[in-house]
Amino acid sequence: MAQEWNIRHRAHECSICGCKFADKQSCVSLLRAVTGSYERMDCCVRCWDCFERDWEPFSLWDGIYHAPKPAEIRKEPVRKDTAETLLRKLIDLEDPAMRNVVYVLAVMLERGKQLIERDTKPHESGGILRIYEDKHSGDTFVVLDPKLHLDKLAIVQQQVVALLSGTKTLEEDEA
Ligand SMILES: [Zn+2]
Repeated sequence: MAQEWNIRHRAHECSICGCKFADKQSCVSLLRAVTGSYERMDCCVRCWDCFERDWEPFSLWDGIYHAPKPAEIRKEPVRKDTAETLLRKLIDLEDPAMRNVVYVLAVMLERGKQLIERDTKPHESGGILRIYEDKHSGDTFVVLDPKLHLDKLAIVQQQVVALLSGTKTLEEDEA
C-alpha cells in the first residue's frame, strides 16, 4: 500500500533526457505509484509525449519550472515559513498519530497560497489523498485528508496553533 503522505522534490533536470530545465520552461510532473511509495518524475513536454511505457501515472499535471531564488524565499513572512518547516518535519516523522495535524497544516499553507493543490485521489481509508505542490520549490506533498468533523477540526487547529506558537513541543504533543 502506498504511504499516506510523503515529500517528493522537484528535479532540476528532465527525468527522461537528463537535460537541465531552463527558468520558466513548461514541464510535465507526475507521480508513479511504486511499492509502498511514490516516485516523482519531471520531464520536458516533448520527452513525456514520446515516452514509451507500459504503466499509467498515479497523478500528472502541467507545470512551469522555476529556477531556485533563495532571496525571494527569504522574504516570506516568518509565520508561513514556520508552518512549512513544521509540515516538513511532521511528514518526515511519518507518525500516523500526526495525520490530522499534517492535514490541517497543509490546508493552512494552501490558503496562504504557499501550496497549490494539483490533484486529489480517493483513499482506501475513506479519506482523500491530496497532492500539493510548493509554489516556490516545486516540492510535492502527498497528504491524506481524513475528512475531519467540525468539532474534531477545532481541536486539531488548537493543536497546530500550540505547536506553531511554541507553547507545546512535538514531543509533548505525542505524549
Ligand atoms: Zn527531456
